[in-house]
Amino acid sequence: MNTLLIDDDPLALKLLTRQLERLGCVGVQQCERAEEAMTLLKTQSEAIELVFCDLQMPDIDGVECVRHLVDIGYSGSLVLVSGEDGRILKAVAKLAQAHQVHVLGVLHKPIKNGQLSELLASHAARKTVPRRADQGTFEPAELARAIAGDELIVHYQPKVALDSGALFGVESLVRWQHPQAGLVYPDRFITLAEDHGLIDALTLAVLAAALRQSRRWRDAGLDLQVAVNVSMDNLAALDFPESVAQLASEIGVEPSRLVLEVTESRLMKDVRASLDVLTRLRLKGFSLSIDDFGTGYSSLAQLRDIPFDELKLDRSFVHGAAGDASLGAIVEATIAMARQLGMKTVAEGVEDQADLDYLRAQGCDVAQGYFIARPMLSADLLRWRPAWESRRCESAATAA
Ligand SMILES: [Mg+2]
Repeated sequence: MNTLLIDDDPLALKLLTRQLERLGCVGVQQCERAEEAMTLLKTQSEAIELVFCDLQMPDIDGVECVRHLVDIGYSGSLVLVSGEDGRILKAVAKLAQAHQVHVLGVLHKPIKNGQLSELLASHAARKTVPRRADQGTFEPAELARAIAGDELIVHYQPKVALDSGALFGVESLVRWQHPQAGLVYPDRFITLAEDHGLIDALTLAVLAAALRQSRRWRDAGLDLQVAVNVSMDNLAALDFPESVAQLASEIGVEPSRLVLEVTESRLMKDVRASLDVLTRLRLKGFSLSIDDFGTGYSSLAQLRDIPFDELKLDRSFVHGAAGDASLGAIVEATIAMARQLGMKTVAEGVEDQADLDYLRAQGCDVAQGYFIARPMLSADLLRWRPAWESRRCESAATAA
């Protein structure tokens, strides 16, 4: 494996080289100057798989280094090394990821052998996973046909109450069963729908499917609150509340059993229209949830202006919050604020038992995430539920 170390401190270079060689790395190259490193990377950019970069160097800092790696099209992995505060290291890692540079990890000086060998192992594991092929894009006409022709399917991800562990509701998540491309996720077609005037038809199709499913569950004795994601663009149509109310009444679902999750992924085109539409949805008895709270434009200003009754804490704050002081502070303050505003808090991205226990202790109301269940077809939910019931009883017994 070809590895390049960049650090202005010759002693640090020597030390890390020795540690890497002891772990079986051969062909470790060293650079004391970032400029020199970039020249080397330019000429051997294919061969070098792993770059260890110190965050503070006299001629260049870690942020600039990331920018140079992007400029030369570096396709390997990056390890950030620093004696700095963990939050700065994480910020640089985030920045690198935003530029699509793969960050294998961050290391604090002095570097421990255990951490280093873990990183190398994850690098080796990553190499055996084939890269996803370029996925291409879709034509608007193709999506329009899919919406009209039943190619959209809805998966449901369970949400559980944190105090009792009981199944509380589901979030409906749309997928496109494409005849050639297979199962396509919404990150590849929602913007297309928004840009080509297809978002209203798409949202109404998902709403209708989710409401029908909600009715079937209720008829089978399962009373679930069903959430559907709506785009800010849906809220530009002043008759949207009427369309939703009509659908719900035709299918026979009480408005209170439907939650509309709103993400503001782009700036609102018309603030008055969306405020009008959201307020009338609430007046009609539907619940409103502010999705991905804490990211993008989902902000305090929206909490002030819009009568939301649920706040969904973005996954990026949730997983690992129990062991991370910064995340913990954000989670705890958000839960307290939601409670004071009379809103329920739903945590997304719950990935392990520690996340679940922590959120319960903080008084969060509802949890959702892979640790509980992945999104699934409606038929699978009925099979998942008894398995979850026994899992939660076991964990309650252990806790007691
Ligand atoms: Mg959502």
